[in-house]
Amino acid sequence: MIKPDPWVVHKFGGSSVADADCFRKVATILEAAPAGRLAVVLSACRGVTDALLRVVALAERRDERMRAEIAQLRERHVALAAELLGSAAALEYREELERDCQTLEETLRFLPPPPAPRRVSDLVAGYGELWSTRLFRPFLEQRARRPGPVVWLDARRVVVVQGGPLGPGVQWSESRANIATQVPSDFQGTLVITGFVAVDRHGVPTTLGRNGSDFSASIFAALLGASAIHIWTDVDGVLSADPRRVPDATVIDSLSYDEAVELAYFGAKVIHPQTIAPAVHDRIPIWIRNTFAPGGSGTLICDKPASTLPVKGITSIERVALVNLEGTGMIGVPGTAYRLFGALSEEGISVILISQGSSEHSICCAIPQEQAERAAAVVSRAFERELEAGQIQSVGIDADQAILAVVGDGMAGTPGIAGKVFTSLGYAGVNVRAIAQGASERNISVVVEGRSAMRALRAVHAGLYLSPHTLSIGVIGPGTVGRVLLDQLTVHSEQLHQQFRLDLRVRGIMGSQRMLLADARITGSDWQARYRAEGRPADLARFVEHVRLDYLPHTVLVDCSASAAIARHYADWLAAGIHIVTPNKQANSADFAYYQRLQSARRAGAAHYLYEATVGAGLPIVQTLRDLIQTGDEIVSLEGIFSGTLAYLFNVYDGRRGFSEIVRDARQRGFTEPDPRDDLSGQDVARKLIILGREMGLPLELHDVKVESLVPAELAAGTIEAFMTELPRHDAAIAVRLATARARGKVLRYTGKLTAQGEATVGLQELDAQHAFANIALTDNIVRFATRRYCDNPLIVQGPGAGPEVTAGGVFADLLRLATYLGARL
Ligand code: ADP
Ligand code: ASP
Ligand code: MG
Repeated sequence: MIKPDPWVVHKFGGSSVADADCFRKVATILEAAPAGRLAVVLSACRGVTDALLRVVALAERRDERMRAEIAQLRERHVALAAELLGSAAALEYREELERDCQTLEETLRFLPPPPAPRRVSDLVAGYGELWSTRLFRPFLEQRARRPGPVVWLDARRVVVVQGGPLGPGVQWSESRANIATQVPSDFQGTLVITGFVAVDRHGVPTTLGRNGSDFSASIFAALLGASAIHIWTDVDGVLSADPRRVPDATVIDSLSYDEAVELAYFGAKVIHPQTIAPAVHDRIPIWIRNTFAPGGSGTLICDKPASTLPVKGITSIERVALVNLEGTGMIGVPGTAYRLFGALSEEGISVILISQGSSEHSICCAIPQEQAERAAAVVSRAFERELEAGQIQSVGIDADQAILAVVGDGMAGTPGIAGKVFTSLGYAGVNVRAIAQGASERNISVVVEGRSAMRALRAVHAGLYLSPHTLSIGVIGPGTVGRVLLDQLTVHSEQLHQQFRLDLRVRGIMGSQRMLLADARITGSDWQARYRAEGRPADLARFVEHVRLDYLPHTVLVDCSASAAIARHYADWLAAGIHIVTPNKQANSADFAYYQRLQSARRAGAAHYLYEATVGAGLPIVQTLRDLIQTGDEIVSLEGIFSGTLAYLFNVYDGRRGFSEIVRDARQRGFTEPDPRDDLSGQDVARKLIILGREMGLPLELHDVKVESLVPAELAAGTIEAFMTELPRHDAAIAVRLATARARGKVLRYTGKLTAQGEATVGLQELDAQHAFANIALTDNIVRFATRRYCDNPLIVQGPGAGPEVTAGGVFADLLRLATYLGARL
């Protein structure tokens, strides 16, 4: 006798049979499958099961709209048949459908008082699968592109189940006997089988639960001894996270049965949790594939998956409540857990996760939110005596929680995964309420507040390098520095994304008048045009609210303005977990009390505050100082030229042209502030000394700095124009100072100096011509760190310390530093 071909089971979900075009796609996939026996399990057409359950709900309320709902279902299927079947077959289909609809209406008209018996709702819910398969069978047959007959099989003639605490349990011996009578062992062709439906031991129609057609597929695979199961759906396979929540989720190439069970149990809707069990016994491989992209490789679920990634995926279950039993009287008392779970189980409340501290002082578990109230009552009743006696202090119920599960066989024995999970949650400001890890180490589950679930999911997904690290960025002040920063981000973002999986997503730009908000990354070569065309009136609160999206883990505000008003918000932003990167000196040089508020907000929260570019633009001055101090060096003094503008003026001023002429020239070349008095007054240098001084722990205020201003007193007020016109009258005075210095073989430089004792001075100094400060170029800054370690020969940092390119570069570098603090690997 010739051995018949092995069976292969193909299951198509509701989205794969949503409309006529989908049915054609399904047929094409089957026709392309290798020769052999096919068992094709279909779901109801998309949305039909939901509609049928709505029908039941309407019938319970005796709501007449029930009939309209049934009529709509009828119309939809009639239209499908008209499009897909020849006229005789379509007519036959239609007649049967009419009969079903009539039976439906009659059954539901005479319902006993609500709720409708389970028997009725199961019967009604199952019609969707009858209608989709009865349509598909003749359709496939009439195309005649597969050998052998196409036979319809109602799963209710085969699959017998019995309800139990873990869901429907398959009665294998009865089901096996049934299949033997329904499908001859030498059958060579295609079976079209209703998914989702089954019967109980008394032959009463029932279902396998929502999404149960996946389970049907694996039951039939086991019954038929199939060699493979293909589950066809609307995504490319099992993804590393729910794609609706994490758009960057990627296809997992292979999973073990255990991993698939964990993912399914903890919310990966793509596969029903019970599907795996029947396949495991006979080691039947399961493929998850996309009906709409059948060429893709999909996900293989099997015994020994090739992929060895420690973490395969992350899932979430929302709308759960935590039940928390707490009390000192529980310590060392056996049986508490037994009583707690016994009480819940008696009420049919399913426990999703359990966590108990090793002190036994508290036990908590997560349950579906709908059952929270009942759970509170049941547990309080079960522990009535202990509550009264004070041995148990409270039975707490926390609603609106979510469970996040990180799944992967490879986590066992790979240290550091839990660390990464919790670090990512911490950085994203997500509070963890409870933790559970099974001894299998295959799953780490955490309970977090429901409203931070999405943020938590994305943070952990990125933290485990399953998707790029995303920073939601708002840039304030697209002026000189801001504009260049946005250009630099435009040029380099793509590379950072590809090379380091870092997504620096500028989602808002705000100037003094207007702002541009967007969801996707704004930086692109057209950002300026978009800012002009799509910008709307600036509104800081709205701007911050937009940039701070709940589902993106990290929010950064980059303040490139010079505004003191903006700087006043930093403390609140930091306290709210928003990171700040800035070249704006205002905040760090404001009153000391505010500075302290900033630093304590930074230390208290999870937010970082980076401001390297406030001193010396892109030069590493703040960081160098911090490194010295934090490694135990002692700063004796800091001295240098801290203003690119003043450096330039005195590098160029040689007495041949008047000083005012050089100022004018520098202003025209954009080397000064719009009002050059801002530079010449020395205030800018004083602010930088304050910033460095405070970094050294000195409680300096701006008025503590002795500043020699180069703005003549009578020109301090008045317009810029008046100032520029009048300045030449003061050229003589400064020329005399230059001549005097020269006579002594010295040069003039505008410097700042700060000592460990807190003396801070800013002003013109005569220096030897060989002095390091006398030999810098153009707008160079130079800072000399005299420290205990660097005493004979001080540490010097020197280089261009002004200009939009280098300042923006400094801000950009801070932004990348921030990304690494948040877990990106650069
Ligand atoms: P079908 O109708 O084919 O049974 P489902 O809607 O039941 O399809 O399941 C597929 C859907 O599951 C996908 O469209 C996706 O939105 C969702 N889903 C949730 N988590 C995951 C995941 N981890 N991987 C893939 N899809 C997932
Ligand atoms: N049609 C059923 C449901 O919507 C079963 C399934 O699609 O898997 O739940
Ligand atoms: Mg499904």
